[in-house]
Amino acid sequence: MSGFSPAFGTVGTPTYEERCGEQNWLERVFAMNLSSTMSKIQESSTLKFAGRAKEMQAKGIDVIALSAGELDCASPVAAKKAGNAAIDSDFTRYTINCGLMELRQLIAQKLKEENNLDYAPDQILVSHGAKQSMFNVLYSLCSPGDEVIIFSPYWTTYPQQVKMCGASPVIVPTYPDNDYQIDESALRSCMTSRTRVMIVNSPNNPTGAVYSAESLATIAKLAIEYDCWMLSDEIYEKIVFNPTTHLSPLNIEPRLKERAVVVNGFSKSYAMTGWRIGYSAGPKAVIEAAGVVQGHTTSNACSISQKAAIACLKDDRDFARGVMPHLESNRDIAMEILGSIDGLSCSAPRGAFYVFPWIEKFVGRKFGSTVLKSAEEIVYYLLNEKHVAVVPGEGFGVEGAFRVSFAGSESELREGCMRIKKGLEGLG
Ligand code: PLP
Repeated sequence: MSGFSPAFGTVGTPTYEERCGEQNWLERVFAMNLSSTMSKIQESSTLKFAGRAKEMQAKGIDVIALSAGELDCASPVAAKKAGNAAIDSDFTRYTINCGLMELRQLIAQKLKEENNLDYAPDQILVSHGAKQSMFNVLYSLCSPGDEVIIFSPYWTTYPQQVKMCGASPVIVPTYPDNDYQIDESALRSCMTSRTRVMIVNSPNNPTGAVYSAESLATIAKLAIEYDCWMLSDEIYEKIVFNPTTHLSPLNIEPRLKERAVVVNGFSKSYAMTGWRIGYSAGPKAVIEAAGVVQGHTTSNACSISQKAAIACLKDDRDFARGVMPHLESNRDIAMEILGSIDGLSCSAPRGAFYVFPWIEKFVGRKFGSTVLKSAEEIVYYLLNEKHVAVVPGEGFGVEGAFRVSFAGSESELREGCMRIKKGLEGLG
């Protein structure tokens, strides 16, 4: 960058690159004198490593990216046709902020028929992806000083959004030895009179865990006892492996209805990550407030994408069923190759499309004369030396693990897992 933006300083001061050099994110925030909120927020490690893999690929390096959480198949034909038709008929203006009535009606119908949850269209807000849905709701509910319960390993965005809203994340660890289920005493010990929201994510990114009815009942019981809100992120609800089934916490405890918001979307179940359609469903007052937040940030979700989402719900609601055999086979391939690495432990995911191997035994081992001191350093080594991109556990709130996405092609998954195997087994 040669010219210097006035927003960043005065003419004559060092350029952005000169100031930032190879600094990490926090150093960059301080160097550029950004807001105090930014100093508390970390960049998305999933996007960071996926971005690095793309940069290396653009330079012609044969990098296999097992970092991104997205299916590599085409979006449903119905969505593509409806999207094209929307463009051709100039359906390209603002829509009503909360989303087209037809779409909200179809979402309400889906929630009733598939999830046994009753919501009216005015209790539903359509947003630019589930990520925005989460933010709108958190921003509507949280005040400075509030605490938000997040179970770790967690989706990297939750604590960052909580901090953006001025609240504090409170992390409750879950462990692979009991399938990442919820331990009542661990949860209870983290709840206080300041607990405002509990974020629940089942099926879980990054572990692939699916909460049992018992875990959900525990979470529901404490939410009611402590009079807090629940945000149930069910974006992977359709990606569950036999014989596991998805349950919403609201199916277990109907009294949650007045204190819970369900978040879902089209990214994962319809291979539509780029279309950006998510939604939230909950008590009318909260959904209205979330709509006000959206009204002042982005306004309505993309008009074309809303038409595509309508077509999915009308004509291809079961799209995800068609991709499950591929995902099931990919899961088995990942488990087989990674499971054959001595010193690595990994539980089989019950849902979503990630495996989350623990690699503590490799931390402290050497590449040449360099000691790899953390899972993150091992991930950098795998990327730079073995040309395979995964995401370190640090981004998901834990040390000593990394996330491998198996949502892509079988051949890339096989090759990527073999590179991980060679990379880990090659450490001194
Ligand atoms: N929730 C979880 C657990 C996710 O993993 C993701 C995306 O990776 C999202 C929400 C956001 O999805 P969207 O693409 O709809 O914003």
